[in-house]
Amino acid sequence: PSKSMDPPHHHHHHQQLHVVFLPFMAQGHMIPITDMARLFARRGVKSTIITTPLNAPLFSGKIRRDAQLGLPIETHIIEFPCAEAGLPEGCENVNAIKSPELMIPFFKSMAVFQRPVEDLLRQWRPDCILADVVFTWATETAARLCIPRLFFNGTGAFAVSLLHALKVHEPYKEVESDSEPFLLPGLPHEIQLTKLQLPPFLKGDESDSGIKELREKMEESEINSFGAVVNSFHELEPGYAEYYRKVMGRKAWLIGPLSLGNKDGTKEKAERGNVASAADIDEHDHLRWLDGVEPNSVLYICFGSISNMSNAQLCEIAGALDSSEQSFIWVVKKGELLPEGFEERMKGKGIVIKGWAPQVLILDHTAIGGFMTHCGWNSTLEAVAAGVPMVTWPLQAEQFLNEKLVTDVLKIGVGVGAQEWSRGERKIVVGREDIEMAMTRVMVGQEAEELRGRARKLQKMAVMANEEGGSSNFDLKSLLEELTSLWDKKL
Ligand code: UDP
Repeated sequence: PSKSMDPPHHHHHHQQLHVVFLPFMAQGHMIPITDMARLFARRGVKSTIITTPLNAPLFSGKIRRDAQLGLPIETHIIEFPCAEAGLPEGCENVNAIKSPELMIPFFKSMAVFQRPVEDLLRQWRPDCILADVVFTWATETAARLCIPRLFFNGTGAFAVSLLHALKVHEPYKEVESDSEPFLLPGLPHEIQLTKLQLPPFLKGDESDSGIKELREKMEESEINSFGAVVNSFHELEPGYAEYYRKVMGRKAWLIGPLSLGNKDGTKEKAERGNVASAADIDEHDHLRWLDGVEPNSVLYICFGSISNMSNAQLCEIAGALDSSEQSFIWVVKKGELLPEGFEERMKGKGIVIKGWAPQVLILDHTAIGGFMTHCGWNSTLEAVAAGVPMVTWPLQAEQFLNEKLVTDVLKIGVGVGAQEWSRGERKIVVGREDIEMAMTRVMVGQEAEELRGRARKLQKMAVMANEEGGSSNFDLKSLLEELTSLWDKKL
C-alpha cells in the first residue's frame, strides 16, 4: 500500500479531542503555546506539545506537574538537526542566535521538522494540529492527513490589522523621508507610523527579500488554514478583531490573555519560561524587597527575551535611573554591561536582575506601578492583565505597531520616543532626559493616575473575559465545539 494514501478517519469511537501543539522555538512563542495547551487540557482535550531537546526543559516541569494532577497533557521531544539546517550545533532557540544574519536561516530551518512531525501525526491520528506561523508547511501536512491546521502567530489582532493595511495600501509610498509620519488608511483609529519604525520588507525594501518570501509563504499557509487562535481578548481590541474577521476574512478565536487562563499560582508564575523551581523564589531578594515598599512605586524594566540594546543605550538608561528618584527593578541580559559602580550606588533604590526574571510574578506585585517594555505582545498583554501602565520602547518585530495600541488607542502608556526599527545595532540612541521624562509621566502625578485608572479597567475586563460567560471563555468553547463537530462530518 502506498504511504500517500491515508486510510479514512474513523472518529465515531472518539471520546476525547486530541490536539498537537507545535510552538516556534522562542520564549515569546513557547510561553503562550504552553499556556494554551494547558488550557485545552483543562477542558479535557488531550494536548501534546512537540519540541526539541534543548527547549523542552524551559517548560516541561510545568507540563509534568499538570499531568500529575491528572490533566491529559504531555511533551514529546524530537531532534533538531541543526547541522542539516546549516545552523551551529545547539542553535535550537532564537536565544542561541548570536548574529542577526542567522535569523533567516533559523526561520528556514523550520522545514526540517516537516517529515518527523508528519510521521508522528500519521501514527497518532490527532484531531488537529496547532502550528506556529513559522511552520509554513503545516497547512499542507494537515491537509494530507485530513485534519484541520490551526494557526498561531503570537501577536494580537491590532498588529495583524496594521500589517494588512500597510501591505494593501502601501501608505509609506506617500512620504518623502524616513521620519515623516504617514497615516494608515482603513483602520478603526487614525494610526500614524514612519518608515524608520518599519522592518525593511514592509516598506518595499528589496534588501530583505529572504523575509519577504518567507512572509508570503506564511500568509498563504495562514489563509488556507482552518483559522487562527489569538492571544488576546475581544474587549481589548474589538475593532481589530472585527477587522481580522471581516476585512481580512479570517476565522479567529481570541482566547487570552493566556497568562490568566490557567489561574496559575506563585509557583507556576515564577517558573514561566524558566527551569527555576519554586525553591528559588525565596532566594529572589527582589521579591522580598517589593513586599516592603509602597504600592505602585516601583518601575519594572525589561525588554523581553531577545534584547539587542547597545552599551551606549544601556548607559543612557542607567543615567536616567541614576538622576531620578524612581525606584526600579531592571532586567538585563547576561553579559550586558552597566556603568561602573551603578548597582552599588542603587542599593536601596533599585535592583538589577541579570538573566531571566519571573516577569508575571513581578508585574502582579502591588508594588509595581509601571512597566518599561519593548512592547513584545506577551509583555504587553501581561501588563494589561496586571493592570500596570507602560513606558513603551519598541525595538523590532511588530513592536512599533503594538506601541500604538498602548499609547494611542488604549492610552495606558507613554512612548519613550523610540524611532528606529532594527534587528541589530541602532544609530539613534534614546537620551537619558527623554527616558526620565517618560518614566516620570507614567509613575507620578495626574497623568500617571489617569493611565493607571484605564489600565486597571482593562485588567478587570481581561479577568472577566476568562470567566464563565466571558468572551475568551466563549471563543475557546466555540473552537472546541467546532473541532468536535468535525468528527461527524468525517464519518
Ligand atoms: N520573560 C520573562 N522573564 C524575562 C524576560 C521575558 O518571564 O526576564 C517572558 C515575558 O513574561 C513574556 C516573554 O518572556 O512572556 C517575552 O515575550 P514578548 O512577546 O514580550 O517578547 P519577545 O521576547 O518575544 O521579544
